[in-house]
Amino acid sequence: MREVAVSLLRDAVRDLCLEANVVIPDDTLQALERALIEETSLRGRSILEEILANDRRARECRLPACQDTGLAIVFLELGQDVSLVGGDLCQAINEGVRQGYRRGYLRNSVSVDPLRRANSGDNTPAVLHLEVIPGDSLRLVLLPKGGGAENASALSMLTPASGWEGVRRFVLEQVCRVGPSACPPLVLGVGVGGSFGSCALLAKKALLRPLGRSHPDPQVAAWEDELKTAVNNLGIGPMGLGGHTTALSVAIEVAPCHIASLPVAVNLNCHSHRHRSVTL
Ligand code: SF4
Repeated sequence: MREVAVSLLRDAVRDLCLEANVVIPDDTLQALERALIEETSLRGRSILEEILANDRRARECRLPACQDTGLAIVFLELGQDVSLVGGDLCQAINEGVRQGYRRGYLRNSVSVDPLRRANSGDNTPAVLHLEVIPGDSLRLVLLPKGGGAENASALSMLTPASGWEGVRRFVLEQVCRVGPSACPPLVLGVGVGGSFGSCALLAKKALLRPLGRSHPDPQVAAWEDELKTAVNNLGIGPMGLGGHTTALSVAIEVAPCHIASLPVAVNLNCHSHRHRSVTL
């Protein structure tokens, strides 16, 4: 059994908060650069140039890429041969978020009570998704999730007869309705299957797939391409001002579901597609 002090996770989460908000990942920058070459709308091109300049400046100056530094979504893959010692796991993760957001002067974006709207003042609590995996390693992923894109996300319990056409229609209608307010170009994570709860998580996990990497199942990969083309044909464009760069990427994850169900969820992310991971 490998012993890991929870203080190690605290420090790792702190550093992930500091990095993820400042450094837009290379795959996102490359996707934006490709889009700039392919976009035909002059206004769309101009916006893509501004986004790229902003992201490069954020890296150089160690400043947040966006003022909305998001809800701290933390995925922890925990090896079953790891024994966590030295304190409480959730407290350690929240302390890491607290320290990271304070040290980086990052905006505190958490309402501690959803209806009375008091700000927690330190961007905690984080949303923690824990998965137990074989072995003795730990992998942490931080996804700072902006409110605009999260608000544009949705889930529907379709009937099985809806099939792929129903999934496709649901995602397109959602992007059409609220995509422009989610700061496009977008990254789309789509979950198909599972239960009401796990489908939404599937969609969020789909956002973590490197941009440009297709699903290993050729049929799912073909659906991803089809959906991306359809979304880009909507004409929403960068920041919703026209063009064909509406989505940089569409990733679909699938899971078994009840014979009477066809859950589908789409989790949108904006052009400020921030995420960072570390293996301990
Ligand atoms: S949706 Fe994204 S780019 Fe727009 S304000 Fe929120 S975090 Fe920033």
